[in-house]
Amino acid sequence: ALEDKSRVLERASIIDPLTGLHNRRFLAEQIEATLVASLRRAQTAPRPQGRDTDTLFFLIDVDRFKRINDDLGHAAGDTVLVQLGLRLQAAMRESDYVVRWGGEEFLAVARDTDRARGDELAERIRAAVADQPFRLDDGQPLAVTCSIGHAAWPFVTTEPLAIDWQGVINLADVGLRTAKRAGRDCWVGVHATESTNPVDLPARTTAAPHLAVLRGDITVSSSRPEDLLAEALAPG
Ligand code: GH3
Ligand code: MG
Ligand code: MG
Repeated sequence: ALEDKSRVLERASIIDPLTGLHNRRFLAEQIEATLVASLRRAQTAPRPQGRDTDTLFFLIDVDRFKRINDDLGHAAGDTVLVQLGLRLQAAMRESDYVVRWGGEEFLAVARDTDRARGDELAERIRAAVADQPFRLDDGQPLAVTCSIGHAAWPFVTTEPLAIDWQGVINLADVGLRTAKRAGRDCWVGVHATESTNPVDLPARTTAAPHLAVLRGDITVSSSRPEDLLAEALAPG
């Protein structure tokens, strides 16, 4: 009985009670081993053959979520979060991670996936949220959108250990904040270039994304047009 109880407690510590998704703690416990395994595979089948050894991080934040709570009530907000969790899981593979990162922010991690597919997967997530209305408990339809930032680990393939997974999430977060500024309901991918200097890159990019682009440390991709994206990256 004691063993059962400790198993229940252990499970409760890694599951978000509202959505039933894994939480941040679960990811922190699992991700290092996942990345080590992928890196090992990458080293036995080096690029270009071993391209399906990347790990793609998608940071997803509900657009104008506060308004849903304010206009329709906290319970309606909760319903949206539960349905969003289901949609994200349906959009990802069984072996991927879908995590409630906090509040109305989620993290989806595509394992052993070529980074060249990042934009396509981001668009799949965006569409999974925006294309069909959500359903409130009384049956009322509600249009919901989200913004997405994404980045791959290893960020610099020739120096896989130079930027850790938290750094990659910080880079994805730069993409997310740029997506918000570019008008929401869109995605922004953050990518290394041939000349990326990985030293302190997440911090430097967070502080001044437009300079990181200007220096050629990163490039960005987006579902928004280039002029809008440039404006969204600009300071102020
Ligand atoms: P933006 O498009 O810029 O992301 O705007 P936003 O309104 O989504 O962002 P903001 O961060 O201002 O609001 C997030 C809100 O999410 C505030 C908080 O009360 C709400 N929230 C966080 N966790 C929960 C939850 O578990 N349930 C509900 N109903 N609301 C939550
Ligand atoms: Mg939000
Ligand atoms: Mg948020």
